[in-house]
Amino acid sequence: MTRARSPYTTAAHAGRDRNASQGMVNLPPFRGSTMLFDNYQRYVDRSWMADTRWASSYGLNGTPTGFAFEEMIAELEGADAGVVTNSGLSIITTALLAFVRAGDHVLMVDSVYGPTRGFCDGMLGDLGVEVEYYDPRIGAGIADALRDNTRIVFLESPGSLTFELQDVPAITAITRERGVMTMIDNTWASPLYYQPLKHGVDLSLHAATKYMIGHSDALMGIALGNGDVIQQLRKKAQMLGQYANADDLFLALRGARTMPLRLERHRQSTLEVAQWLEGREEVERVLHPALPSHPDHALFKRDFSGSTSLFGVQLKAEFADRVALMIDDLQYFGIGASWGGYESLVIPCFPEQFRSATHWPCERGPLLRLHIGLEDPADLIADLDAGLQRLRA
Ligand SMILES: *Cc1c(COP(=O)(O)O)cnc(C)c1O
Repeated sequence: MTRARSPYTTAAHAGRDRNASQGMVNLPPFRGSTMLFDNYQRYVDRSWMADTRWASSYGLNGTPTGFAFEEMIAELEGADAGVVTNSGLSIITTALLAFVRAGDHVLMVDSVYGPTRGFCDGMLGDLGVEVEYYDPRIGAGIADALRDNTRIVFLESPGSLTFELQDVPAITAITRERGVMTMIDNTWASPLYYQPLKHGVDLSLHAATKYMIGHSDALMGIALGNGDVIQQLRKKAQMLGQYANADDLFLALRGARTMPLRLERHRQSTLEVAQWLEGREEVERVLHPALPSHPDHALFKRDFSGSTSLFGVQLKAEFADRVALMIDDLQYFGIGASWGGYESLVIPCFPEQFRSATHWPCERGPLLRLHIGLEDPADLIADLDAGLQRLRA
């Protein structure tokens, strides 16, 4: 057995090829549609592709930068291979479309990322696929929700906005036995802190837009899987015309080289800010799986090797009408969607508007979602302190 190298080393060395980059350390963005072939024979007989590293016959079938990025993330996640598309949402919709057929039943977690729910409700139904939402804390109870025609169980852990953890091994023990496929949105944990394929999940999906790109300057998605599953997804993604843009791939590969370092800082600063918020009397509760107060903390300790920058803060109900006063004048927290970049963000969230299988206790107070960036946490705490004081003024 060879020793698996550290993620820091993988991030620095995976996906490098001196020939492909003409001796430079970094691969350039490969902009292009047409690939030129040496001769008639090579064009007509594509058997050379099977034993050529990073083989491609057209811009949509792959570029060196894309293959390099897929290789690096697959190694970090302990997967055979990866497939990229041009956004986090498109890797999710591509994966679902690749594996469902008319007449199928899909079990979708109730705490799923909003636009994934939008796709399920707005498009899958029209294609003859029935989507049913389930409680993120269902665990082994998934056995009772499975039907004869259930094709996919889709997971996201922690859930978007509300941060419930799922008992992934309890679910996959049952789906594997029943021959049902599982997919998970693993964006929150990143490949560094959770490797779902090792817990029996078939496909791990990420918005590379977040921690991999890490600088809020591009969009991309990546799926990781083993064996035939990921090869099937590659074929289906090509049929759908899905790939990633050359400049975005360059930014993703460049961003991911420093991902382990950035995540370490995000992790530490976020715990500091989250713990500080927990001690504030304006705060009803903090929703961060790495805090012992989180209802699913035991699962967190069992399954995850680290935590990240995104968490929820429920303020006391008495401040419901004053949230704007708090967040409008924050100095370092931008108000905006997406996350995973170097800069801190905050948004108000209303999960009660989407839930169908579970109740979100909005009566306990208004919910904020925070992303803690790479600033000094002392500055962020001072900024939040002033914001909380504005709630009371
Ligand atoms: C942002 C996000 C996505 C979608 O990524 P985009 O690149 O913005 O399409 C998917 N899942 C989760 C959990 C996200 O936070």
